[in-house]
Amino acid sequence: MADLSTNVRYIKGIGERRAQALAKLGVETLGDLIAWFPRRYEDRTVLCPIGALTDGEIACVTAMIAAAPAVSHIRKGMDLIKVRAVDDTGVLDITFFNQTWLKEQLLPGETYVFCGRAEGAGGRFRMASPIVEREGLRELTGRIVPVYPLAAGVSQLVLSRSIRQGLDSCADIMPEVLPDGIRQAHALCRIGYAYENIHFPESPEALALARRRLAFEELFLLSIGLRRLRRRREAIRVNPCRKTDMEPFYRALPFTLTDAQRRCVEESLADMRSGTPMNRLCQGDVGSGKTMVAAACVYFMVKNGRQAALMAPTEILARQHYQGLAPLLEKLGVRCALLTGSTPAKTKKSVSAQLAAGELDFAVGTHALITGGVEYADLGLVVTDEQHRFGVAQRAALSAKGSHPHTLVMSATPIPRTLALILYGDLDVSVIDQLPPGRRPVETFSVPGSYHPRVYKFIRQLVAEGRQAYVVCPVVEEDEEAPNQRKAVTEYAQKLQKEIFPDLRVAFVHGKMKAREKDAVMTAFAARETDILVATTVIEVGVDVPNAALMVVENAERFGLSQLHQLRGRVGRGAHQSYCVLISDSRNEETRERLKVMTKTTDGFRIAEEDLRLRGHGDFFGQRQHGMPGFKIADLAQDIQLLREAQDAAGELLERDPQLASCPAAADRIEALFSKASDTLN
Ligand code: ADP
Ligand code: MG
Repeated sequence: MADLSTNVRYIKGIGERRAQALAKLGVETLGDLIAWFPRRYEDRTVLCPIGALTDGEIACVTAMIAAAPAVSHIRKGMDLIKVRAVDDTGVLDITFFNQTWLKEQLLPGETYVFCGRAEGAGGRFRMASPIVEREGLRELTGRIVPVYPLAAGVSQLVLSRSIRQGLDSCADIMPEVLPDGIRQAHALCRIGYAYENIHFPESPEALALARRRLAFEELFLLSIGLRRLRRRREAIRVNPCRKTDMEPFYRALPFTLTDAQRRCVEESLADMRSGTPMNRLCQGDVGSGKTMVAAACVYFMVKNGRQAALMAPTEILARQHYQGLAPLLEKLGVRCALLTGSTPAKTKKSVSAQLAAGELDFAVGTHALITGGVEYADLGLVVTDEQHRFGVAQRAALSAKGSHPHTLVMSATPIPRTLALILYGDLDVSVIDQLPPGRRPVETFSVPGSYHPRVYKFIRQLVAEGRQAYVVCPVVEEDEEAPNQRKAVTEYAQKLQKEIFPDLRVAFVHGKMKAREKDAVMTAFAARETDILVATTVIEVGVDVPNAALMVVENAERFGLSQLHQLRGRVGRGAHQSYCVLISDSRNEETRERLKVMTKTTDGFRIAEEDLRLRGHGDFFGQRQHGMPGFKIADLAQDIQLLREAQDAAGELLERDPQLASCPAAADRIEALFSKASDTLN
């Protein structure tokens, strides 16, 4: 008998060939298949008479083929089928390209449903390449039709037919993971109904019910999983750190820590002295001074006789951290080293050897810290900076270099609390909600492209005052590695240098440059050897040049709010009044609204909430969170209330039944969900 782990090739009606196609989507088992949810739906329930069609609109029509289709060969590889269909109200002329098999299938005198964009008027219409189906079949038309994410060689029809077969073959064996009590208390439909209607909804209402149930289930299982991870972690015992005199560290700083920084340090030290591994997120807006919190923890750990590592997402950042922290910490007796991708092999080898021998106390670096043979004598603390850029897996790989090291995660992206609950469900959170004294908010303007002359004049004026400016060229996140990025940046820099600012020093930096080149450019900029730095979003994260007082963002509409906030955070870090100019010609209303938010507030948390409201959670999830169980159905932008319900339900269930003995199906699913992450997360 089939169960959900059955390979799809054994499902009646699927067979070897379709199974191979489905494998391209990663769909291998029956369970995978029925959980391959539609991306969206098309409502094709309404059938329209030809005479009632509207020019330019998509509609479904039931019509009879009037004469045999005519095929004409237009040119090599291009065949055209023309066929006329009629009903009582009008005539529909239909064309298909390269679908010659339809010639045999569209029989004169027979009635079909055609679905496509209608063009024409007055009872005479045309449709190009409509969806076509025999009347009464109700597979592709006459219903709410699922639209699935596809891969080459797997069509919508293959998928929906396979899923139909899949659902039919597991109607009786679908495990109900939600205990009846919870299901009823939260007005959730049964699992069978949910799967049936998420794929083949009977009505919009049925679809909504199905979606709600499946989203709840997803959030519920995730909540339980995260709670259990936390419990497991809290059950681990490690040697508590000693109380340590921090005064020498504080005295060595060129400034006094803010109260908020102090609080974060205190909370972290308390964790490390508690006897269970710290797993803390330190969240603070850009410029709030997270680095010094990390430094305090590093100092504390090293004074406890163990090692610490700090991992940054980019070479530039790692180097900057090293340059900022090493002089301070070395003075206090901490032996520091830098380890990045561009560290020469010989140096890397000797650093590794010293780390393994315990002759170094603190390693700063990129993920070079976790690759290959780097070993640590006694790694007690792992700090990851700008954690958004790292997946859980990378974080965990560094932790695996020690035996339950304490971990501190620094996030510069303010994450709305609701999301933090999910993203960091297994972390304790400290918030630095205060900026160092003397900061003035960055004045922000949103202007159209016609303002370029004025913007250039403004750059010139600030440079004359001794300040520096960033100019960000647009790059879409996915194109980060694309070659045209290089072109955009270099060309724009050249243009500025030659045509606009021949007397100023213009430099550029982009992600395609070698780490060493990037560093050289950034170092020169930090040393005020250049006035204007044209850049991609490589400067988005963490770079600190206090003398830079202007951030110009071209094509600002291309960036998400949180990203703009990060970019803006590159200025306003010193004592000078700083400015941010967002240039965009977009007329899109949502974009205008987004840019307006930037001019109104500098509060990162508010901006993040707005971003969430305007764009959904795209900025927060996505590829950056490798290893985090992703959502198939739940959408945190709209399911916040459901998330709360699911979390309450999860809490109550675990209270009653910590081992989940009463719902083994749920236990199995959670096990599967976390199997990838769990050994690494602990
Ligand atoms: P972020 O939280 O964005 O990582 P940084 O740690 O880079 O912020 O700190 C931003 C700047 O503020 C740095 O130049 C740092 O030296 C400075 N800074 C940090 N803490 C304080 C403080 N308490 N008082 C004054 N300046 C501070
Ligand atoms: Mg930082």
